[in-house]
Amino acid sequence: MTAIDSKQKMPDDLRRCVEFHGHICPGLIYGYRVAKEAIRLMNLRRAVDEEVVAVCENDSCAVDAIQVLLGTAAGKGNLIIKDFGKNAYTVLNRGKKQAYRFSRKTRYEYAGKDKREFDRLDAAVANGSASEDDRRKLKRLKIDDLLARPFEEIFTTMEAPFAEPLYAPLAPSEPCAVCGEMTMDVKRVKLSDGRQVCIPCSQKS
Ligand SMILES: [Zn+2]
Ligand SMILES: [Zn+2]
Repeated sequence: MTAIDSKQKMPDDLRRCVEFHGHICPGLIYGYRVAKEAIRLMNLRRAVDEEVVAVCENDSCAVDAIQVLLGTAAGKGNLIIKDFGKNAYTVLNRGKKQAYRFSRKTRYEYAGKDKREFDRLDAAVANGSASEDDRRKLKRLKIDDLLARPFEEIFTTMEAPFAEPLYAPLAPSEPCAVCGEMTMDVKRVKLSDGRQVCIPCSQKS
């Protein structure tokens, strides 16, 4: 992969991630690399329904690239966020009953060819003297570095046991006994007096 100096050079799949996410950032690149590697390893196609599932162990920018490229979307039930604050992802392929977990190996260290410039900008950010432009340049160096590196330098890949995740429930809704708003049956809470209420109402009473 090559450095991205301009929008023209950006690969089409990355451009779609950036358009969805709103900006380009190192976090998005982590997700982009993981999604591409999962596609390569398991020969995946973007999930139309729930045939691919992603379990993300953080709720950072990376998750958006995973949603775009794998079709694992928050509203579809095949994006599971377990926010453990880890740069780690498990991608499951229901068709082949296969799963891989990708987790970031080490603390970030710049490995590109502009090491001196990177260190200068990094130090400026650390001591508070960095300008907006410095911050932007530093981010850009990090993005280009993360795009250029071999995947296995950044992430550890492990085959994971395939544990069939539940399909998104298609549950009927009933009105909450307090506020009257339609609430999925499985999400309603039973009060001691037997009334079924929504979660916000159960927390008020
Ligand atoms: Zn971001
Ligand atoms: Zn209610």
